[in-house]
Amino acid sequence: MSILDRFKLDGKTALVTGGGQGIGRGLALALAQAGADVAIMDLNEETANKVAQEIKEIGRRSLVYIGDVTVSKDCNNAVEMIINKWGKLDIAINNAGIGNWFDAENYPEEEWQKVIEVNLKGVFLCAQAEARVMIPKKCGKIINIASMSGHIVNKPQNQTAYNASKAGVIHLTRSLAAEWAKYGIRVNSISPGYIRTPLIDSEPVKKMVPEWLKMIPLGRLGEISDLQGIAVYLASEASDYMTGADIIIDGGYTVW
Ligand code: NDP
Repeated sequence: MSILDRFKLDGKTALVTGGGQGIGRGLALALAQAGADVAIMDLNEETANKVAQEIKEIGRRSLVYIGDVTVSKDCNNAVEMIINKWGKLDIAINNAGIGNWFDAENYPEEEWQKVIEVNLKGVFLCAQAEARVMIPKKCGKIINIASMSGHIVNKPQNQTAYNASKAGVIHLTRSLAAEWAKYGIRVNSISPGYIRTPLIDSEPVKKMVPEWLKMIPLGRLGEISDLQGIAVYLASEASDYMTGADIIIDGGYTVW
């Protein structure tokens, strides 16, 4: 098979959490363009439906499940919906995530808890639901969205919960990869740097951008499209010998 054919996802089915906007939307569309049918799980029905429509316009099937990744029943039901409609789940991108900024000494406990719940527990509960249907098939590709914040401490903003949650996702990825390799399931993560999403245009984020740019060797923010290639690679058979890895895509931020 030619190398480009090995990147194709024709006949595959996928789930993308938090796929209604931002990075999740971009990765869902990338999988669809590569040939996969893609289901979206998100809290926001309107945006999720819009992305599902975009996937159908690419010529692929799509489904929407409105649910919360911190609730195991929702994760299980999203996967069950895919199995009922499509018969199998080949690829899952656990992308839903949130952040907040507080100084560590004054971090409100409930704000800390929220970030850890969505970013770390949510990824685990989704991966657990996905693996339960992948194990009998002896194959599957799970891709967790971590962050460069799992490797470095961002500045000047203080975000200990986010940084700790993303470091957790990277090691969770390794742990699941080790456990599930015997079932043919590959588990890898992607660590984006600063990516241009609508959040970047909001106050107070906008005023940080000049500071951040000084710390990025490539001198620009990442675009969502900068993440699409690696997602297709990790979802495809081209990456079959990779598991437990974290791929940093940050314009070089973490090398300084
Ligand atoms: P967005 O906030 O733009 O999108 C996240 C999506 O996930 C939203 O649709 C949101 O719904 C949904 N979501 C949030 N919480 C839950 C939940 N509990 N259950 C189900 N869906 C949920 O995020 P980004 O696209 O910016 O980020 C996506 C991922 O990439 C996150 O994990 C983030 O940490 C990571 N990342 C982002 C970077 C960036 O620069 N943007 C850099 C590095 C990593 P709703 O809007 O209704 O809350």
